[in-house]
Amino acid sequence: MSLDQAVNANMVTIVPEGEIAGLMTPAAAFDAVEACFAAMASRKAYNFPVIREAIGHADALYGFKSGFDRENLALGLKSGGYWPGNEAKGLTNHQSTVILFDADTGRVKALVGGNLLTALRTAAAQAVSLKHLARPDSKVLGMIGAGHQSAFQMRAAVAQMNFEKVVGWNLHPEMLSRLEATAAELGLPFEPVSLADLGAQSDVIVSITSSFAPSLLADHVKPGTHLACMGTDTKGKQEVEAELLAKATVFTDEIAQSISIGEAQHAIARGLIAEGDIVEIGAVINGTHPGRKSDKEITLFDGTGVGLQDLAVAAKVVDLALAQGVAQTVAF
Ligand code: NAD
Repeated sequence: MSLDQAVNANMVTIVPEGEIAGLMTPAAAFDAVEACFAAMASRKAYNFPVIREAIGHADALYGFKSGFDRENLALGLKSGGYWPGNEAKGLTNHQSTVILFDADTGRVKALVGGNLLTALRTAAAQAVSLKHLARPDSKVLGMIGAGHQSAFQMRAAVAQMNFEKVVGWNLHPEMLSRLEATAAELGLPFEPVSLADLGAQSDVIVSITSSFAPSLLADHVKPGTHLACMGTDTKGKQEVEAELLAKATVFTDEIAQSISIGEAQHAIARGLIAEGDIVEIGAVINGTHPGRKSDKEITLFDGTGVGLQDLAVAAKVVDLALAQGVAQTVAF
């Protein structure tokens, strides 16, 4: 049964969290996210305002990210948030579910586990930025951050380019074993380094931390580097010195988020860059912006994470689940 047939038969398709790993591939996530960024830049898709609230219960942050992609007919929302007490209960602290609606009728189409999809779409966004902005001869990958998401980011980066080595730094050095193990899984040597060394060695730098103060400084970064700053997705968070954005050409998934909750919020607030200096990555994908213009240019992708990315990967996984006969459908 196709998704349209299921909707016409008043059936809702359910893809549980536990099925996602067996269905979704990084390559499928990459294609879905790249298409969604392209549709955003050509104004065929837009994100609705984000809601995120401290609910005053279980210390939880809860909210919605939503949008509509007219090109790919993805309509819906991702709802969820952060429950810090979950780990003690054997659950993941980040919890989310995607709900897709039929754009023609408003009927609910699908309910999809959103936890692994969030990790995959975030890694895919960074990989899209590497494809379009990093120097093709990049050899050394620098990783800042060694938490849960870092392994996904490293795998997606290594799938994208022929790296020969990974160097890494983390505020909490005891966590670096995750980067070392992931590099080993990918068949690459790993070296723990200082931030100055990381900047001196890396052709591509990925930052994925929950920091509220800059770690990497503008002077650490050499000409020609591509940075994907993926951790800053909230007001107040910051991973790199604001001066670095003034030295770089800044790209993002969505400008409104970049200047308010993304890495660019600080450079904007200090007047170091203007909103008009920031380029949507979709414009590069669509060929209306040239992207990197020289081997000496520093490019920086401010990946803030948009709802349309969640809808794009969820729609893909529903198609895969139906095609492979593992989707559950219930009358609704
Ligand atoms: P995690 O809690 O597993 O790891 C946190 C990482 O940040 C660790 O490496 C930790 O050592 C580091 N860190 C903590 N405090 C720091 C500080 N003060 N200075 C420098 N480093 C510090 O989290 P995760 O799941 O790996 O996610 C990392 C970040 O990515 C989070 O901030 C999360 O909100 C963000 N994120 C963004 C997107 C997006 O679309 N942009 C998507 C998913 C996650």
